[in-house]
Amino acid sequence: MRIISALALSFYLAVSAMAASQTVIKAARLIDGLGGTPLTPAMVRIDGDRIVEIGASVKIPVDAKVIDLGAATLLPGLIDLHTHLCGHYGTHWEDELIKTTPAYSALWGARNARVTLAAGYTSVRDMGTAWPYVDVELRNAINAGAVPGPRMFVAGAYVSSTGGAGDASQFSEYVHVPSVDNLADSPEEVVKQVRKNFKHGADFIKLLATGAILSKGQSPGAQQFSNEEILAAVTEANRWGRQVAVHAHGIGGIKTSIRAGVRTIDHGSYLDDEAIEMLKATNRKTFYVPTLYTSKIIERDGRANGVPESEIQRSKMISGIKDIGFKRALASGIPIGVGSDSAVIPHGENAQELVCRAELGESPMAAIVSTTSLNAEIMGWSDRVGSVTEGKLADLIAVAGDPLKDIKELTNVGFVMKGGEVFKNELTK
Ligand SMILES: [Zn+2]
Repeated sequence: MRIISALALSFYLAVSAMAASQTVIKAARLIDGLGGTPLTPAMVRIDGDRIVEIGASVKIPVDAKVIDLGAATLLPGLIDLHTHLCGHYGTHWEDELIKTTPAYSALWGARNARVTLAAGYTSVRDMGTAWPYVDVELRNAINAGAVPGPRMFVAGAYVSSTGGAGDASQFSEYVHVPSVDNLADSPEEVVKQVRKNFKHGADFIKLLATGAILSKGQSPGAQQFSNEEILAAVTEANRWGRQVAVHAHGIGGIKTSIRAGVRTIDHGSYLDDEAIEMLKATNRKTFYVPTLYTSKIIERDGRANGVPESEIQRSKMISGIKDIGFKRALASGIPIGVGSDSAVIPHGENAQELVCRAELGESPMAAIVSTTSLNAEIMGWSDRVGSVTEGKLADLIAVAGDPLKDIKELTNVGFVMKGGEVFKNELTK
């Protein structure tokens, strides 16, 4: 008897919550994120945190809240596959380790998460922090509703080899840097780091396979993990049902990582035709995620931000090479994931990556599909986000104009809804 009445009560509560939480959004056009013909005009009905109905005309329930976005374009929330939300723009990550505490990363992380959400990014794959696992706590705080921010898919502590791109190299042998506990120098040690990351709440593994631009005295092209070490990371992560993203500039590290079965090749600066063919042959198992805007920012602001001259020069040299690789990939027709490497670029400027890609020949529609449904597919989140589809989470954004005419519209997002809740609306009076 008690069970029946409890059921009846919960049913009543569910029904009344549903009635109170319906929202209908109207806009001049809707781009679904899947590459379909835009719907004009468009209406989307949202119930709780889900999209339940889409059409040119949707019946408005009696109690529903109506948001009329006028001439705006509605799109799925944007996704960035390469952020460092806990990184403070302008502070070198190795300086954070000696001059700050994890609280610095956490507080700036909360601020950066808010700024990134306001820029229209409702999901991010976060590629690691100077202070390990601050990203795990930020993800949890956002999910608990303590601070606003995108849905986060986090790396925890990135895995590096000794002297590699993720090792803090500015310190002498005599300086103990306690937080740098992410080093691995054999397949066995890689497995240990992978397991440790999952134990402490990481969603996936970030491995630094080659040298980096923002690390002292390194050749970004050089492979730093052996073939066996990269394979060990993938095998172990897959055992957990999870994926590996590799930071790889050089072609050796890129090809070894594709062979090992990683999910993404991030940066991929020295991508060549053979690597593109190899990516194609994986049949959507491994993806290339270039980061093109970073070079422009390092050249523009690097000096003022105290980036060493050698790292600025290195970035300049790689910039041209990166652009050629991207154009080749684009011509080949392989899917190209989108990442900004924010913290290397100012948080909130993430969509400038799409502007760089457009300048190199990507169509606005392809850019939109890449940064929504393709990015969701790469993260394994296609069931939840990445397109305006009935049944998916109501992560929606809007821009004043038509991004198919000018992709720069996406750098000025005026409306953001995450999980059915309006976070920002500058489009309705
Ligand atoms: Zn990065």
